[in-house]
Amino acid sequence: MQVTRDPSQARDAVRHAERPLGLVPTMGALHAGHLELVARARAECRTVAVSIFVNPLQFGPGEDFERYPRAFDGDVAALRAAGADVIYAPDVATMYPPGFATSVDPGPVAERYEGALRPGHFRGVATVCVKLFATMCPERAYFGAKDAQQVAVLRRVVADLNLPLELVVLPTVREPDGLALSSRNAYLDAGERGTAPQIHRALDAIVHAVRCGETDRERAVAHGRAELRAPLREAYLDVVDPDTFAAPDVVRPPALAIASAWLGATRLIDNERIA
Ligand code: AMP
Repeated sequence: MQVTRDPSQARDAVRHAERPLGLVPTMGALHAGHLELVARARAECRTVAVSIFVNPLQFGPGEDFERYPRAFDGDVAALRAAGADVIYAPDVATMYPPGFATSVDPGPVAERYEGALRPGHFRGVATVCVKLFATMCPERAYFGAKDAQQVAVLRRVVADLNLPLELVVLPTVREPDGLALSSRNAYLDAGERGTAPQIHRALDAIVHAVRCGETDRERAVAHGRAELRAPLREAYLDVVDPDTFAAPDVVRPPALAIASAWLGATRLIDNERIA
């Protein structure tokens, strides 16, 4: 396994490697959700590359960029055990050298929900992913359904910019009580951790209501909202089109129930498909 912080070395490491190449972009602090993506890439691709980069461009002022968990040595050990071939972990100064000025603006899908709460977030995500794709040239890139709006944004970017790669999206890995694994779960204290599964329960309630015949979006969402209790604070709870993240008045599958809630200073997100 080759570990490099240098983009030319990363490209050289994969240029003559066996194809297909699968890339798993991450911000590190790896958990079982990330490792599921690596395992799938390992099963489907001859060469597996993983990027580790906490991308300042996708964090707003006052967000958790500085305190975001970093666990590089443990990540390298986990990726070695998972059979990754290349780890690309650039420094911020390498990714964004002085004079860096170009960014990728993904349009309306990036402006709703997460995009509204985190202005510029998806521009940062899209820009770093296009840079990673350009550096590594993977045939496949692996992403988690947990970040569903990120997936919708990247699908738009890949289609609009004719990027020659396939996005592979894997189901959300959860704790036994339903909480979606997230690097940010480490911020929760014991009380917050106990409350956090309400988010998944709210999504379940929405999905159940629609399955039982509810087609009115606001009424379906109200079923979910009944599961959310203080001290948890809703940031958003809705049913949207999985591609555009527009909210229809009438819910027709396939749709996506989406949720975000604050627990103290930590905001968590989750979603569930309505098939
Ligand atoms: P991050 O390090 O948070 O940028 O996540 C890197 C990738 O792992 C993204 O594609 C995420 O959607 C994915 N991911 C994060 N949490 C989970 C999870 N619980 N299950 C599956 N994939 C996940």
